[in-house]
Amino acid sequence: MVNLEAWSELTNEFKAKGVTLVAVSKTKPASDIQALYDAGQRDFGENYVQELVEKEVLLPTDIHWHFIGHLQSNKVKYIAPYVHLIHAVDNTGLLAEINKQALKNNRTIDVLLQMYIANEDTKFGMDEQEIKDFLQHFQPHVMANVRICGLMGMASFTDDMEQVKREFTQLHTFFSHLATTCFAGKPEFKVCSMGMSSDYGPAIEAGSNMVRIGSLLFGSRA
Ligand SMILES: *Cc1c(COP(=O)(O)O)cnc(C)c1O
Repeated sequence: MVNLEAWSELTNEFKAKGVTLVAVSKTKPASDIQALYDAGQRDFGENYVQELVEKEVLLPTDIHWHFIGHLQSNKVKYIAPYVHLIHAVDNTGLLAEINKQALKNNRTIDVLLQMYIANEDTKFGMDEQEIKDFLQHFQPHVMANVRICGLMGMASFTDDMEQVKREFTQLHTFFSHLATTCFAGKPEFKVCSMGMSSDYGPAIEAGSNMVRIGSLLFGSRA
């Protein structure tokens, strides 16, 4: 069941703050996505390639599909024709494959680098040093069909909102640093994707301008 009232409230709040709402529709049926689309939502996030492929053919072609989960290189080809933004790039091999598939489809694919900020060892992503090393080896002229548009991160799974806020602030500080150094003069480097249903408040306070919200809109996942 889609919560249109919550969607409407969040949309108004985020519009006022310049924050993009990505509606995370993983595990939910295409009919739920269509209901939010009919209300005006255009950005949707999915985590699983097979699921995205199945839904994409059923839904309007002007949806902006965000791939927000861990992406395996051998699956990039399935979403390359239409994906709007890939949020979780954390290795050079994956980026090279995205570039290759973008070229095949005669397009440019926008990506975010996933930064590891949580105090847990189960999440994907790179730490600051790894991102610096990654960028040092990044050759824009070789990877002409990808655009690095910002950073994405997930905070620790904890009730300690002070810790969550610290982690988001760390990501945003590094994002701002990169925007004025490595990416100076590159206006496309402007997305700071952080915050989900349980922690979008501290994420936005810390400077997030793209939140990924599932359960508040679509109900909890079984
Ligand atoms: C599932 C998921 C979300 C949304 O989580 P909710 O708690 O349902 O809002 C956001 N980001 C990523 C990467 C996810 O996998």
